[in-house]
Amino acid sequence: MKATSRHVDVVVIGGGQSGLAVGYFLNRSKVSFAILDEQLQPGGAWLHGWDSLKLFSPAEHSSLPGWMMPRSENEYPGKQEVIDYLRQYEERYKLPVYRPVCVKSVQHSESGFTVETSAGTWHTKAIICATGSWSKPYIPAYPNAGIFKGQQIHSAHYQSPEPFTGQKVLIVGGGNSGAQILAEVSKVAQTVWVTEREPKLLPDEVDGRYLFEFATRQYKAKLEGKTIEPAGSLGDVVMVASVKEARDRNVLHSVRPFSHFTETGVQWPDGRQEAFDAVIWCTGFRPALDFLKDLDVLEPTGKVSTQGTQAIKQPGLWLVGYGSWTGFASATLIGVGRSARATVDEVKAWLEQQDH
Ligand code: FAD
Repeated sequence: MKATSRHVDVVVIGGGQSGLAVGYFLNRSKVSFAILDEQLQPGGAWLHGWDSLKLFSPAEHSSLPGWMMPRSENEYPGKQEVIDYLRQYEERYKLPVYRPVCVKSVQHSESGFTVETSAGTWHTKAIICATGSWSKPYIPAYPNAGIFKGQQIHSAHYQSPEPFTGQKVLIVGGGNSGAQILAEVSKVAQTVWVTEREPKLLPDEVDGRYLFEFATRQYKAKLEGKTIEPAGSLGDVVMVASVKEARDRNVLHSVRPFSHFTETGVQWPDGRQEAFDAVIWCTGFRPALDFLKDLDVLEPTGKVSTQGTQAIKQPGLWLVGYGSWTGFASATLIGVGRSARATVDEVKAWLEQQDH
């Protein structure tokens, strides 16, 4: 895109599944808007997932508002099917997505906000952040991490097991990324799985669909002041085929964390040292919101305090799709629609108020 200066009512930052869901509802309003996305093509974080990454739920339970994801030949669609769906969704609704446009900073201006990007300046009255977290991998601080001479990569940059063939690999992190990466790397390498506590493996028949339905019942009960005993959470390990197979091979065991790194590997709490060729960090992500720093809304955790999806300290700013703190199940394809709709309703009301 050419460097330029433009005016719209709403700038949506991020064009992954959350930005598109917001775009779907904005499209049905009279509000002018632009979606700015730093990627070269549609797909958001799914563009960077590892080769074998699959959804936890069938297509019909993984859809954005308005148009269902086409049925997959497999029970659980692969990442390329999600990328294709997001591309077609964007085309179908002719969403005004500008790529590649990286938002560098947001500042206050007389009429609202100035958005500085890699392709010029945008002026807007309201901002909806939908930047997800994939571009901000989190690695916990372990003593002496800098002296370890082996390879360290985060799951954000992991593609496939082949480069680890014949190696000894430490896999850190007890969520779905850790379990799925362990499952395939353990086929070609010797692996040790480190998790802070015993990972919660869900029963075989429980998939994302069940978790979402259960979480919905829990959410509704909470609204009525009741509680239901948790049967699992969206962060627990779903027993996808590869993870079941790893369990059958007897490699799905984890140990508690090591105390520090050594030059060649790690030292365990009992003083034993063990050599490793590589560490794969499957330790999660933080919200990609650094461009908001001039607005003084970022908490030490990297999050923004919100009521619903609206920033408490900054009128005119909303955040969609970052997880439960920005709306129930909002970091899922099926869950983000609800947050997106409520957010767009609030933005429209807020813009009308500003005009009077
Ligand atoms: P993203 O997809 O990250 O999109 C944000 C976009 O904003 C990206 O294109 C990014 O490049 C862009 N961006 C970031 N910063 C800037 C900037 N400064 N300027 C411009 N653009 C910017 N979800 C499901 O629904 N079902 C599943 O089965 C499922 N399985 C998963 C399995 C694993 C192992 C993992 C890790 C995640 C899974 N998820 C699943 C979650 C899902 O991948 C993410 O929650 C989802 O991608 C978030 O969408 P998003 O649009 O909020 O963010």
